[in-house]
Amino acid sequence: MNELLVFMCDGAPVRGEIVSIGSAWQAVLERRNDPPAIRKILGDFVGAATLLSASLKFDGTLIIQAQSKGPIQLLVVECKSDLSMRATLKLSVDPSEIEPDATLGELLDASHSGRLVITLDPADREPGQAPYQGIVALQEHAGMVIKPVTSAAEAIALYMQNSEQLDTRIWLSSNETHVGGLLLQRLPDSGGHAHLDPQEAAEGWNRIQALGETITDEELLTLTPEVILRRLFLEESVNSGVRSFPARKIQFSCRCSRTKVADILRMLGEEEVEDIIAEQGKVETACEFCGKMYQFDAVDCRQVFKTDLLSDATRPPSSGH
Ligand SMILES: [Zn+2]
Repeated sequence: MNELLVFMCDGAPVRGEIVSIGSAWQAVLERRNDPPAIRKILGDFVGAATLLSASLKFDGTLIIQAQSKGPIQLLVVECKSDLSMRATLKLSVDPSEIEPDATLGELLDASHSGRLVITLDPADREPGQAPYQGIVALQEHAGMVIKPVTSAAEAIALYMQNSEQLDTRIWLSSNETHVGGLLLQRLPDSGGHAHLDPQEAAEGWNRIQALGETITDEELLTLTPEVILRRLFLEESVNSGVRSFPARKIQFSCRCSRTKVADILRMLGEEEVEDIIAEQGKVETACEFCGKMYQFDAVDCRQVFKTDLLSDATRPPSSGH
């Protein structure tokens, strides 16, 4: 079960997505050794990233980053528009210090330092052109009261409210083996729903949201998207029609490569790399997303800096390193 299903309602200006991830999520987990409270947060954000990237209107990558001064220093989930994804996180404390029932607020918004950054990076971005990026604080301010968000779904909702997106509702759930999610988005009334008057459109959106609210964690974690769609929107599909598109596959996939590690060595600089070689005989590094080991011995490293000289000669000088 690694599927994402997109559906449209005829009687309401709504586009929806249901996701169910099994082995692709387990592939993330088996490369990591996170405590349960952390896995839950990572799983929910994996669900969110797949749902959000399935609504991208261009070929590219959607990156969710959560940063804080709390136990979770950095959490990253990347999902490409072909729904291949990878995820990682960095803790600032020993995993054994994290309580099983620690909340997202405690882990990601200690002293209200939590930030959620969502980056949309088109594949055909021109060099020098910045990717689109939106940032939201992981707290809600109600007058004098500051309240940390309590779930990944709430964090995403807050982001959506702040970034002038279409009205969006999102439900997320995850456990040791599965990630499930539901997203509902209100489409502009003019779009394909011109047959609805404004009141019908508003009522339709409310009706579909109310149906969405009946979803349970158990359903999200155990049923296929097709079954969830049938169960949740049975009446809607009988009365006015719900159309789904062919399910799309989700897979775990890492984009790390020896070439990219070589680029990092170049950024470190020849002197620093030579120091490591002198000390340890080789440079060894593991990909933080998939755990794959990369080794560069003295000969490899010489090669790295030799090719750098060659490519520099054919490239205009950069202001970087
Ligand atoms: Zn990797």
